[in-house]
Amino acid sequence: MQSRGFLAVLLSGCTFAWACADGEILDGADLTEQEGEGERAFPGMVGDLERAVIEGPGGPMEVEYEAFEGRAIFEGDIELNVGEPTLRSLGSKKEMLWKDGIVPYAFHKKLGQSSRRDITTAMETWNRLTGIRFVARTDERDYVEFVTGKGCDSLVGRQGGRQIIHAAYCKAGGAMHEIGHALGLWHEQSRPDRDEYVEIHRGRISPRGRHNFNKVNGLVVGAYDYGSIMHYRPNEWSWTGRPTITPRRPLSPGVVMGQRKAPSSGDIATILALYDLTAPSPDQGPGPNPDPKPNPNGECGGLDYKGRCADSVVEWCESGKLKRYECAKLGKGCGWFNDREGFDCVDKRCVDLNYTGRCSGATAEWCKDGVFKRKDCAAAGKSCVLTESDGYYCE
Ligand SMILES: [Zn+2]
Repeated sequence: MQSRGFLAVLLSGCTFAWACADGEILDGADLTEQEGEGERAFPGMVGDLERAVIEGPGGPMEVEYEAFEGRAIFEGDIELNVGEPTLRSLGSKKEMLWKDGIVPYAFHKKLGQSSRRDITTAMETWNRLTGIRFVARTDERDYVEFVTGKGCDSLVGRQGGRQIIHAAYCKAGGAMHEIGHALGLWHEQSRPDRDEYVEIHRGRISPRGRHNFNKVNGLVVGAYDYGSIMHYRPNEWSWTGRPTITPRRPLSPGVVMGQRKAPSSGDIATILALYDLTAPSPDQGPGPNPDPKPNPNGECGGLDYKGRCADSVVEWCESGKLKRYECAKLGKGCGWFNDREGFDCVDKRCVDLNYTGRCSGATAEWCKDGVFKRKDCAAAGKSCVLTESDGYYCE
């Protein structure tokens, strides 16, 4: 196994008090959606609880984590680098950052198109807000690889060599969160000063989740940021359905604790400070394209026949000409069309669903060639499961 010898320092979501007293959310059009639980490396599974002492920026610290399949999972979705014979985490800030704010990335070949689209949205969002650039890897030694899998997890900071991010089923907001870890951010509610800002209701936390609410002895900068995309959701690890984390003071209007819409102004300020970047001006439009390849297609701007979706408009390139079609005219949305290996107008229910599909209770739902499919597994005395090769189906 490749040696990955460093853990990043603990960095909270907020660096400049003036910039983010309450973590104003920048992209806050729809903040009502609030899912109960957040990102999990191994959803629904229980690992062996283990302890280790790691060398943090504030000195040695003991951490509890769950061991799954030889991996050390901390706070649900952070993979710790298990050194030999103990965890090690030496390293300075600079060592765990991505040089010049450039993150080489690769998609595993099995990663579905819908996941690629969400992850690309996540990379573009970080790029637009902070100027961090994501470039398709050629031969860089250090890079992230987005790999399919049931869960959502990432290591923290640049680890050296190939490091895996699982974000296939966390949607764009969850992918932003996992990328935040890879950029060097830990969970906001792990800050040593968090008890001044949030109350942890230990009696409501499921026994297997209690170790995920320990504090981490790391570096803290800036004000506590309730709106950080790195903050736990209120119902995290709850076994009573009641909140396990509640704020000790009223949140500013528009601030949602545990939101996964976009990095907060505090998250942005932290990344800008860490990487010594200047926020891209809105007047300049988006920052550099996350995948700046030469443009062989003239007016198509790098777009190929597979195309892309811009809301409900499908755009693609044909014979060097940019083509567009408004799917709404057909009462449809834009999504992945398996048979044509490209984007096209599809059933609206397929917009966020690819061939891999999902489980909706005991019902398997997926899309094939733009047509929505559904199978009631319970009626056949089966349950809906995810398999490596066939996506979700009844078994
Ligand atoms: Zn996380």
